[in-house]
Amino acid sequence: MEQNVKQYKSFMSFTRRDFLYRAAAVGGTGLLLNTMNAWGMGIASTASAPPVLSGSGKGKKVLILGAGLAGMTAAFELEKLGYKVQILEARAFAGGRCQTARKGFSLTELGGEKQTCAFDQGQYINHGPWRIPLFHRSTLHYTKLFEVPLEVMVNENDHAYAYSENAGPLAGKRVRIKEIKADMRGNVAELLAKSVKNHALDQELTADDQRLLLDYLQHEGALSAGDLKYKGRSGRGWATNPGAGMNPGVATDPLGFKDLLASKLGAVYSAVHDFPMQATMFQPVGGMDAIAKAFEKRVGRNIRYKTEVQTLRQNAEGVTVTFKDTGSGKGGSISADYCLCTIPLSVLRRIDTDFSDQFKQAVASVAYAPVGKIGLQMKRRFWEEDDHIYGGHNMTDLKGINTISMPSYGFQKQKGVLLGYYQYQTQAIEVSALSPKERAEFALAAGQKIFPQYTENFDSAFSVAWHRVQYNLGGWAEWTEKTRAAAYPTLLEGEGRILLAGEHLSYLTGWQAGAIESAWQQIAKIHERASA
Ligand SMILES: Cc1cc2nc3c(=O)[nH]c(=O)nc-3n(C[C@H](O)[C@H](O)[C@H](O)COP(=O)(O)OP(=O)(O)OC[C@H]3O[C@@H](n4cnc5c(N)ncnc54)[C@H](O)[C@@H]3O)c2cc1C
Repeated sequence: MEQNVKQYKSFMSFTRRDFLYRAAAVGGTGLLLNTMNAWGMGIASTASAPPVLSGSGKGKKVLILGAGLAGMTAAFELEKLGYKVQILEARAFAGGRCQTARKGFSLTELGGEKQTCAFDQGQYINHGPWRIPLFHRSTLHYTKLFEVPLEVMVNENDHAYAYSENAGPLAGKRVRIKEIKADMRGNVAELLAKSVKNHALDQELTADDQRLLLDYLQHEGALSAGDLKYKGRSGRGWATNPGAGMNPGVATDPLGFKDLLASKLGAVYSAVHDFPMQATMFQPVGGMDAIAKAFEKRVGRNIRYKTEVQTLRQNAEGVTVTFKDTGSGKGGSISADYCLCTIPLSVLRRIDTDFSDQFKQAVASVAYAPVGKIGLQMKRRFWEEDDHIYGGHNMTDLKGINTISMPSYGFQKQKGVLLGYYQYQTQAIEVSALSPKERAEFALAAGQKIFPQYTENFDSAFSVAWHRVQYNLGGWAEWTEKTRAAAYPTLLEGEGRILLAGEHLSYLTGWQAGAIESAWQQIAKIHERASA
């Protein structure tokens, strides 16, 4: 594990990996493991369709708490089985974390001022979920079923920049990721070829294998045929691009290998590092909330909005929930045979329930991640026009920034919204203490070191600190090895007539697929209990 921690130390291993390193530094290896799970590293979404359940739920009522993706998935599937379902949702809209900020969208964080998104029509930022990996077959099951149009989300762009603030001779310079990748490969290949030539690998490889390895290295590192030296390659880009007539192009010189090493840029992010990050990555056309809206279209008639759950009680016959209507201020109560609670544990732990002490303790034991994002609308797509970057992520160790990501929609239009930072843990907490205006100023001051065009092109900003969002109180559940062992089985089992679901009850925490698959699993349990 220590090896992993060291590996993650390099900032250029992308924000999530950077996050992993920080998480490990803060919480030890348990948290590191948990975080790897949180981002689905090494763990694919396995379910691709809802469970096939026999029998009928006719005559029975299930009360669902929360109209996020877990709640709406459950409602959609249970209703098909004949159950009467009702969803209580505290917000005035459905989708939970599956939100998109566009013109008119407003958000007031706890203790904060109201932000209303002032982006131009057609511009948006997915300030919650923003990508759908090809492996998330459960999410893709519903986008297909509901005909939510998808487009490719550019999750890796070698033409984007890497920027290190302090490390080595390349500090303070933006470098194209492709230059780093080409030169690191070339230099490492050259060194390895030299080792083969000097018989340093005679113990490990037969003469035939060495010939095959040299052949591979020559191609992998673009080594010149005679001396097996790396002298650059076209893939690292041109000083002048080739063109018509007498223009064969002007090649660029490779970066110095030692400079690259000292700058610690070598481990620059590649999607091959992280399983769920590989191409093809998707996003719904027009914003991630298209998924929420597609669900809402089908189950919206069963949702009672602005209905904040206050207490949760059960007996042998059923479950009773009291609520406050946040519109009218009036209270009320609803009863049902069973209840599926998808309220995040960070919120549920503050709700008055008659769960056993052991269950309450399990609910309270799970931490939630501080996470922050900001969308910056720019008057001009300078990253496309000047820097020729179309989508993808610029990676940096600039404190509180981590990544500057370019939109994967609206290419070549006039304006665009880029992601100005994506923060976790301490950085997210620190920046979330700022006002929205100050957060924008912070993002601009740091980001303009990479893109000097920021200052003259900035239009408006929209930021979120998920740990300060009332009905979430955190980005996603942060399991540790210890809490997985102590609390997870208890929570998965539910208590009596109340079951829980949501991203927090999966090994895909921090992913929509976790919410959906958890709902699939828990409705099967409800159906089993109701049919018994
Ligand atoms: C910054 C960020 C980035 C992410 N990136 C991705 C990504 O790229 N891809 C991806 O697939 N996933 C991503 N995710 C994760 C994804 O958004 C979640 O896993 C998923 O949306 C969770 O769904 P849920 O139904 O479990 O919870 P939620 O969506 O939180 O739903 C819970 C519902 O309960 C309601 N509620 C809370 N309290 C009460 C109450 N007292 N009474 C009534 N209702 C209540 C809430 O309003 C909410 O609607 C990201 C999340 C964040 C925060």
